[in-house]
Amino acid sequence: MDVSIPANPRPIDVAAMADFPGSTETMIESLNGIGPARAKELRRLGVGTLTELLDYFPRRYQFEAAECPIAHLKPNCVQVIRGTVTAVDYIVGRRPRFEATIDDSSAVCSLVWFNGAYLRPRIHPGLLLRCKARVRFFKGIAQMSQPKWEIIAEEAEPIADSKFRPIYPASERLSSEAIARIIEQNIDQALEQIDEWFEAALLRQRRLIGRREAYRRIHLPLNWDEAAQARRRIVYDELMLMQLGLILSKRLRDGRLSAPILRIDKTLDERICRRFGFALTAAQRRATFDIVSDVRSGEPMNRLLQGDVGSGKTVVALYAMLAAVANRMQAALLVPTEVLAEQHYLTLSSLLRGSAVNLELFTGRTRRQSGGKLLEGLSEGRTHIVVGTQALLQPDIEFANLGLVVADEQHRLGVRQRATLKDKGQAPHYLIMTATPIPRTLALSYFADFDVTVIDELPPGRQPIHTRWLRTDQALQAYELIRAEAAAGRQAYIVLPQIEDDGLDESRGVLREFDRLGKGPLSGLRLRMLHGQMSTEDKQRAMTEFRDGGADVLVATTVIEVGIDVPNATVMLIDQADRFGLSQLHQLRGRVGRGKRPSHCLLISDAATADAEARLQAMMKTPDGFAIAEMDLQLRGPGEFFGTRQHGLPEFKLADLSQEMALLQQAREDAAAILLRDPDLVAPTHRHLRGALARQFAGVLPLGQIG
Ligand code: ADP
Ligand code: MG
Repeated sequence: MDVSIPANPRPIDVAAMADFPGSTETMIESLNGIGPARAKELRRLGVGTLTELLDYFPRRYQFEAAECPIAHLKPNCVQVIRGTVTAVDYIVGRRPRFEATIDDSSAVCSLVWFNGAYLRPRIHPGLLLRCKARVRFFKGIAQMSQPKWEIIAEEAEPIADSKFRPIYPASERLSSEAIARIIEQNIDQALEQIDEWFEAALLRQRRLIGRREAYRRIHLPLNWDEAAQARRRIVYDELMLMQLGLILSKRLRDGRLSAPILRIDKTLDERICRRFGFALTAAQRRATFDIVSDVRSGEPMNRLLQGDVGSGKTVVALYAMLAAVANRMQAALLVPTEVLAEQHYLTLSSLLRGSAVNLELFTGRTRRQSGGKLLEGLSEGRTHIVVGTQALLQPDIEFANLGLVVADEQHRLGVRQRATLKDKGQAPHYLIMTATPIPRTLALSYFADFDVTVIDELPPGRQPIHTRWLRTDQALQAYELIRAEAAAGRQAYIVLPQIEDDGLDESRGVLREFDRLGKGPLSGLRLRMLHGQMSTEDKQRAMTEFRDGGADVLVATTVIEVGIDVPNATVMLIDQADRFGLSQLHQLRGRVGRGKRPSHCLLISDAATADAEARLQAMMKTPDGFAIAEMDLQLRGPGEFFGTRQHGLPEFKLADLSQEMALLQQAREDAAAILLRDPDLVAPTHRHLRGALARQFAGVLPLGQIG
């Protein structure tokens, strides 16, 4: 995800933050009950300070019933007793069983374990046991069948009250119990650091408990209810912090920056559309309307263009770029890989054939080859549209008047890179295209400061894609299909997860498969290879050849995942499909089904894990990218989904975006309301909130500047 960064961020106001609690951290070494060994172990678990200890949340809770005198046991309830073993017996027979009798001086209870031979060396008279199971009465004597048991010391405190036990993520050297004890011993001191962020009225309205109370109860709840309340409050806080950060960033952008005003009238609109050779779909029309109204506002556009693969985003982007050019501004199209840059360059060149628009390809290679010409073209304004990779983000690159930046698959570009680019013009308009349909939950959180346009319609005449899952030993069927399609003049992709075999297992890579297929199953077909380690020239040659029909099969890594557009390709074979993420599989599938013929997606896999199986099943079940994205989110969680770490956004500790829709919606409203009443968070009641924001988003969002 990306958050816009103003052109001239003021430095973060560290002095203003210094008086916030938390800036002077208590190290765990100085806490009660922690010696050097434990401190080391805690640090290994990521806990180095008192605050981090407080943030080390239980994974779940366990209910422990109070111990009950045997004489008071009730039938049919799960209860806990303790008593001394007075007799044991092992009974062989059709149902061998181990029996023991325990006595707690109020009464005796008999214990039975079927198939309990393993207990013979362990349980013997004289031991003190604590047992837990459902109680039955047999001839007036209490009996437990298959009880859970532990040997306890004479002096072990009886469990006097029913108790809720937090279960922490533990390590071999530091048990959950030990962590619980450490937290219990230090929680009072730790809680002193916790300050309330929100006004009492808001908490009442949302039925939220206080922040300090929430931190106590998440660690030491008395019951399920308390644990649930605590969790809800802490999740709410996480969501609020994120929402506030995003709104503030959006406001900084909208309020402080001006952008070039681009005028698009009917004549220009018609002139641009004539270029395409087809009518825009209704959804594409809506997208261009949105863009037109953004770019004439005088404020920078910050729009996310979301549409399934093949929905025609590139065309919409080109519309925007041509509009910029017609307004005497430059436009840049940023893409993550060289192959994709080349591909886009080719697509745009053919769409712009015969026009006066000056289009350039900017990659590390073309930059070197041009001997400075490319740089000049950009800085003197002769280049109108530039398609480029990361190479465009180098600090020495200047634009004469950059009016629009389009980023394809933007979620792969980091915050810092984007800031670099923004510095080059005076706040150019910004359009992100993503083929990864963004689930609503994520759109509301990570992309909250973007306006979103969804292209929810495919161009007319699209053919369905038949998806099949084959086992490795059925691969021959796949090759036969490829041969048949090739014989009919059509083409196929074969995608592998890696370039070389890693030698450790059955895994196959592009190099060896290329060889094997050419000699064996696909002999006689024209095969080409494409992967990231080839030189740019070779890559381009392979791509162009495949595009122009000079090859039948392209054996590739996922370099072809995005943007490649060859309508004549009708087969996508994904080998070892279990090695790919769900969204990635869907992207790859989107490379076919772009022409007039029905297409096929063949997944070859002997899926070993339940997760892999779920991904492949999902692919079989639906062609709908949106549904796929939702499932992907469930399977992987949002962090991995967008690579948030890479983008510098804090990960949630507790919040699970796929589950927290209602609370997220509330947080969104509440964050907006707070900033409406107290735009710079200067009210005394918001002092701690402001500090938390500054701490959490330092370096990511320009929050030091609030106020
Ligand atoms: P995306 O970038 O969303 O994956 P593209 O813009 O690459 O999709 O479009 C996919 C294909 O559909 C391209 O070949 C493009 O020329 C074609 N296309 C786009 N819009 C239309 C339309 N309105 N009518 C017909 N074909 C279209
Ligand atoms: Mg595209």
